[in-house]
Order: sequence, then structure tokens, then C-alpha cells
Amino acid sequence: MNSKATDVIVVGAGIVGAACAYQLSRDKLSVRIFDDPVGAVTTAAGMGHLVAMDDSEQQLILTHYSQLLWQALVEEFPAAFSFERTGTIWVAANEQEFQDVQRKQAFYADHGIASSVLTAAELANAEPHLRPGLAGGLLVPCDSVVYPPEVASFLLCKAREFGAAFLGARVSSIGNGSVHLSDGSAFHAQVIINAAGPTATKLTPGLDLLLRKGHLVITDRYPGTVHHQVVELGYLKSAHTFADDSVAFNVQPRSTGQILIGSSRQTGVGDGRVDSPMVARMLRRAFEFMPILSRLSVIRVWTGVRVATPDKIPLIGPWEKDSTVYLAVGHEGLGITTSLVTARLISDLLLGRNPAIPVEPYLPSRPSKAGVLV
Ligand SMILES: Cc1cc2nc3c(=O)[nH]c(=O)nc-3n(C[C@H](O)[C@H](O)[C@H](O)COP(=O)(O)OP(=O)(O)OC[C@H]3O[C@@H](n4cnc5c(N)ncnc54)[C@H](O)[C@@H]3O)c2cc1C
Repeated sequence: MNSKATDVIVVGAGIVGAACAYQLSRDKLSVRIFDDPVGAVTTAAGMGHLVAMDDSEQQLILTHYSQLLWQALVEEFPAAFSFERTGTIWVAANEQEFQDVQRKQAFYADHGIASSVLTAAELANAEPHLRPGLAGGLLVPCDSVVYPPEVASFLLCKAREFGAAFLGARVSSIGNGSVHLSDGSAFHAQVIINAAGPTATKLTPGLDLLLRKGHLVITDRYPGTVHHQVVELGYLKSAHTFADDSVAFNVQPRSTGQILIGSSRQTGVGDGRVDSPMVARMLRRAFEFMPILSRLSVIRVWTGVRVATPDKIPLIGPWEKDSTVYLAVGHEGLGITTSLVTARLISDLLLGRNPAIPVEPYLPSRPSKAGVLV
């Protein structure tokens, strides 16, 4: 790529756009990034669980590679943002789910991810506030937790240090190497990255994306109550199905001592309103697994909108209908985890580098965006 004019314009400075601006400017491309207001959308609502997720092989490869990139980022900038190595405990509620733990461990092991099976007693020892009678679990130590808006802001700052220009403006259209703002001005670049999250389809009409509203609840400070990110095995079913609204037990200990409680999914819902019956259902599920939560004070409830593709794999790379437009959208509930790998793959594509993982399963031009799930 010749870097005399602006090489790349990134639209959107959520964590995905910020990661793209960081990686590309670091790789010596000239970059402009547009957003207004910054960080106010899904990234500000996310849970920040950096998780190796195994809904499909493509997803596991992508999330695990991104975890390695997070590890490298933290080693390079050790005190730049909070990064808690909480690990994840996947909880098996009954014997049938416990069988699934063995399958999950084998799948992780096939991809070089270490994990250990916990008996019921070991589970109770690791998380004493889980209810008695659970069958066991799987501890995945490589998973960790960040505070998403903090990291997005760090990546944007670093991008600017590497020379990226940030412009606080709303983009009204993109295409054919141009970006137009609502005041009529235009900017040109060889490549424009659409990282606009839930509004990506306004800029690139025709993308097959679904909105999925989620709620989160945060408690007051109760340090030492929860030690790991603790998720029920049924979470994958909740994330996987588009058919119905769903909830799953998913709690995260914050470094402040607060406990973040999730999660819910309402497919086809993109408004930001707090839906009280859904919050009640989500909390009932959490209390079933961890009864102590029902006695804690909640200080805030909020929503965010995940953006999903039919096969739950993000769209990363050139759009079939305009090769000047690259897509960085559709990360559903994994966009914090996979922000860094998205940026790296796009940079590899633009610079003609060999990516560390095959990029084909993530390209917008992949043959089938459904039916790849294991
Ligand atoms: C409840 C919930 C929990 C989650 N938990 C996790 C988790 O634990 N782990 C995980 O990995 N992921 C999680 N996610 C998913 C994750 O938050 C998202 O995938 C991620 O934040 C998407 O980031 P983004 O940069 O693509 O989008 P956004 O953060 O939405 O950023 C898009 C940006 O584009 C800007 N923009 C849009 N249109 C324009 C325009 N026309 N001009 C200029 N700028 C524009 C917006 O202002 C915004 O800043 C969760 C999501 C939710 C809702």
C-alpha cells in the first residue's frame, strides 16, 4: 500500500475501530479515525471478558489468537489499563452437563488451550458462594477481564501517538474510496474501514446483521465474593440460538470489588431501554446459581446492543461490493475479545503479510454465513 495520501479511514472509535487505528498506524499506514460521540455505544456497555469461546472451531481459533495478542499488548504496556487474570469457570449444573465438560476440555486441548476439570468439591472450593449440588466445572485459566472503555481509549491514544488523526465527526456515507460528512465535506483514502457497530448497515446497506440487546447489572462493592468469571455451560446455548429471548448465569468480579451480573439476549431488539421483566429473569437465573447475589445491593442496570451475523462469526476484510470498503463488524458478544485480532487480520490483508491464522473463515465473501457451527 502506498502511503502518500491517507491510506485508511476508520469509521467508529469503539474498541474495534480503535484497535484498527492502533494496529494500522503502528504498521506505518496513515490513518484517520472518525467518531462522534466516542465510546458511547456497545463498547461502553460490554462486560470485558476476554474469553476463548468454542461455539465453533472458527470462533475458538479467532478468540484464542486474540488472547495471545492481548497477552502481548499487556506485556508491552504493563500498567496502561487494568487486566485481571480471573480465568473462567464453566459450571456444569448436572451430570449431563458434566459430560459436556469433558468434551469441552478435549476441544480446547486440541487447540492448545489448557483447562482443568473441577469436581463438585473443587468447584465449591473455588467459588464457595455457588449453590450446593452442582456437578462440577471446567477452569480455563487463560481467560481474563478488562474494562472496555478504558482499553478503547488507550488504543485510540496510542494510535494518535503513532500518527493517526482523530476527527470528532459523524460520517453520513462511505464508498469508492470516499467518506462524506453531514456538512458536505469529503475525505479520501485507499481503504475505508466500517467499524460502526450497531449502525454499520446505515453506512454499508445490505449487510446481513442482527441486533441483540443485552442487559447487565452491577452491584455495590463486595470484595472476595466471586473469584473468577463464572459462567453456566448453558451460556453457549443462549448465545447460539436466535429463536427466543434468553438468559444465562454469567458473573464477573471487578477489580473494585463490584460484581457484574449478566447476561441476556433479545434478538431483533436494538433499543436501549431497560426491560424490567428481562432483568428480573436474568437475576433469577443468577440467584439460582449463586444465592448470595440476591442479598447484594445493585447500583446500576444498563443495556447494550450486540451485532451478530447469521453464523456468529464476524465480518473481517473487504466487502464484496466495493473493495475500498473493509468490514470490521458482527462480533456479537465477543467484540472486546476479538478487537485485536480483527485489527491484526485487516492489517495483514492490507500489507500483504501472511496472517498467523487462516483469514478465509472471517472474510465477508466466505461462501456460507450459516451452517459452520459445530
Ligand atoms: C451486555 C453486553 C455484554 C458484552 N460482554 C462482552 C464480553 O464480556 N466480552 C466481549 O468480548 N464482548 C462483549 N460484548 C460485545 C462487545 O461489547 C462488542 O462486540 C464490542 O464492543 C463492539 O465494538 P465496536 O467497536 O464494533 O462497536 P461500538 O462500541 O458500538 O462502536 C462503534 C462506534 O462507531 C461509531 N459510529 C457509528 N456510526 C458512525 C458514523 N456514522 N460516523 C462516525 N462514527 C460512527 C459509534 O459512535 C461508536 O463509537 C458485550 C456486549 C454487550 C451488549
